[in-house]
Amino acid sequence: MIKWLQLLFNFVLPPRCLLCGKEVSADGILCSECFSRINFIVHPYCKKCGKPFEYHLSDKEIFCPECLSHKSPFRMCRSAVVYDENSKKLILDFKFFDHLENKSLLANWLLLAGKDIFSESVDLLIPVPLHFSRLLKRKYNQSAVLCDALSKLSHIPANYKALKKTKHTLPQVSCNGKQRLKNVRNAFEVTHPEMVKNKRIVLIDDVFTTGSTLKECARVLKKAGAESVCALTIARVCD
Ligand SMILES: [Zn+2]
Ligand SMILES: [Zn+2]
Repeated sequence: MIKWLQLLFNFVLPPRCLLCGKEVSADGILCSECFSRINFIVHPYCKKCGKPFEYHLSDKEIFCPECLSHKSPFRMCRSAVVYDENSKKLILDFKFFDHLENKSLLANWLLLAGKDIFSESVDLLIPVPLHFSRLLKRKYNQSAVLCDALSKLSHIPANYKALKKTKHTLPQVSCNGKQRLKNVRNAFEVTHPEMVKNKRIVLIDDVFTTGSTLKECARVLKKAGAESVCALTIARVCD
């Protein structure tokens, strides 16, 4: 009976591609043309920060110059796709225009992109929080929605209480590289240190641009006693 109802529903309101609106075979997917235009991040990339390389240098573990010369607050960072014109619409629709139907596809991409991270034990998923005032304006935190979907897929618990954004900051897109770090400095607080102490945490966000926000979250989580912090995002800005 339910199958018949589903068939009737699909006849009246057929599933549509999340990007171009073309009719597709199931809900929450892209048509083959739109899918072929998504640039998934595949090997070779930096073993630590996940930054893609243009050439495969050797089969050994490869680190980018930045990871070789700087101490990173992350155990590992991974992103599913390159942030470009093709992935941008999917993410911005989800973030600002209430297209919550994009959630399931994006969470599945996170799960695939995080396979290196999840190959070692992880205790908690934590979304990058929004300041209360921005949450009121936007109605939902896109990172928390993603985190919830990923938690259901991966069976890893999510925590929405421990990390808070306590300082209202300028949107990161309005700042350049150095300003971004300064803008988010001391903007986050661990309000429940007992929830993160000795935990192996994965931070969830939509886009990794310079990583300033994620780095600041990792810094306060580690200061509060987290054992390790990874970052997992849908997309990454690649120059
Ligand atoms: Zn399409
Ligand atoms: Zn790196």
